[in-house]
Amino acid sequence: MKECVVLSGKGGTGKTTIIAALAHLAAETRRLVLADADVDASNLELLLAPEEQERHDFVGGQVAEIDADLCRNCELCVTICRFGAISYRDDRITVDPLRCEGCAACFYACPSGAVEMVDRVSGQWFRSETSLGPLFHARLSPGQENSGKLVTQVKMTAKLTAAQSGADLLLVDGPPGIGCPAIAATTGAQMALLVAEPTVSGVHDLGRVLATTRHFRVPAFVCVNKADINRAKCEEIAQLCRDQDVPLLGEIPFDPMMVETLVQLRPVTSEPESPAAKAITALWRELEPRLA
Ligand code: SF4
Ligand code: SF4
Repeated sequence: MKECVVLSGKGGTGKTTIIAALAHLAAETRRLVLADADVDASNLELLLAPEEQERHDFVGGQVAEIDADLCRNCELCVTICRFGAISYRDDRITVDPLRCEGCAACFYACPSGAVEMVDRVSGQWFRSETSLGPLFHARLSPGQENSGKLVTQVKMTAKLTAAQSGADLLLVDGPPGIGCPAIAATTGAQMALLVAEPTVSGVHDLGRVLATTRHFRVPAFVCVNKADINRAKCEEIAQLCRDQDVPLLGEIPFDPMMVETLVQLRPVTSEPESPAAKAITALWRELEPRLA
């Protein structure tokens, strides 16, 4: 079983649309498992209209709670908390869960044993069924942290399912950027497809994500989306790939059919004669032998 993560240095490059099309092509010959590792804004599920099969809480950390019966209102914990999460109000000590970082300093400092550290449910993860194969995805609750941990949860469950079901390809939709969630999505993958766009920030962000995949020793391949909107920047990307000895596998032209099929919740490759579908099919032909 091979694991391929699709990344982009920034959001809005068309990464998810391209993954849906690649998955559509791959599913013709391979048993697929899909994972959406963009837990802050998961959107592969929107495109593939999956049927939810399982839903699980994600415990991202802990939060302090005060037992009012044991608390002696000494306010030591108010002084100890560096995040200003504890206050004395209405004759009692209270914790603001949005400010609490779960560091447990108050738990260890309280002389009365009045602080309890309890699990904090920070989001949910799902197993769903799509026409292309099982999809693992998640939703981090607003304002919650530990998205890297949730990405790892999604990926490990997808990987286990792929191994147990005899799937031969795990396709991971990685989050944009190079932060903790992108690193969690990249770790353990056999290859990374980087989707770039020919803009000033697109070239810059591709350089950053290439440095990240190199650091984690994940072989990278590049494709350029909307390649024809700026030929000069597209050539800059090609030069960057040559300089770094990274194969540029394909260029996808700007094609209104991408949006048209997107709003109909169909992969663009369901319109095989469209320019974008032809380019993505050519990209898949380049990518597939590299999965061997
Ligand atoms: S340190 Fe313990 S006893 Fe003192 S105010 Fe905080 S919770 Fe109450
Ligand atoms: S666990 Fe840490 S952050 Fe949370 S209330 Fe206690 S001291 Fe403050």
